Amino acid sequence: MAQLRDKILIVEDDTGILKFLKTTLTANNYDVVLTENGKDALAMIYSHCPDCILLDLGLPDMDGNTIIESVRSWAKTPIIVISARSTETDKATALDLGADDYLTKPFGTLELLARIRAALRHTRTTAENDEIALKGIYQVGDLRIDYNKHRAFLGEQDAGLTPNEFRIVALLGKHAGQVLTYKTILHELWGPSASSDNKILRVHMANIRRKIEPNPDEPCYIFTEVGVGYRMASND
Ligand code: CA
Repeated sequence: MAQLRDKILIVEDDTGILKFLKTTLTANNYDVVLTENGKDALAMIYSHCPDCILLDLGLPDMDGNTIIESVRSWAKTPIIVISARSTETDKATALDLGADDYLTKPFGTLELLARIRAALRHTRTTAENDEIALKGIYQVGDLRIDYNKHRAFLGEQDAGLTPNEFRIVALLGKHAGQVLTYKTILHELWGPSASSDNKILRVHMANIRRKIEPNPDEPCYIFTEVGVGYRMASND
């Protein structure tokens, strides 16, 4: 039986990058559809139903953020932004509008493919990581998040997280591989009226890292996207 391939829509007006992406993705067994402008992109999302969208922000006819907003009003198709815009505000804006991930140009092929795999996995697993849904556990390396016991373990050792620290780790685990912005984390954990002060999150994270990371200065489980948010390591 022929394997069903995932279809990736590339929206990019730089023909050099477009060609590179097309070649790379085709060589890695993805079906590729592409366009250089926003208007066609929106039409193609309807007509082609891609499994994932790679989206440049600086398009000739519209801003990519407009596309994110539009798509999110009716579809959950994963969107990975690929952009030369590299400020923390640019990243946070796109992620808060509903982009799943953000890659700053230039980026490496392996990084791109890893992000695409992570994005595709998220759509296959309803709202939560399938491993968590099945076993109530997310495991990466020695770190085990037990959602039934509300505890995190390092090997057999209870990491001793406080309830709030556990909630942060649990949330990141459910979205492993994906950047969650400070705003998203604060809202998810403490509701829409939560303070937008990231300081409390940084304090919690410093404590969490002290408890779970072999070397808190070079984390291997929870990574910082500077000025944007945090990402839990994927277990693939
Ligand atoms: Ca562009």
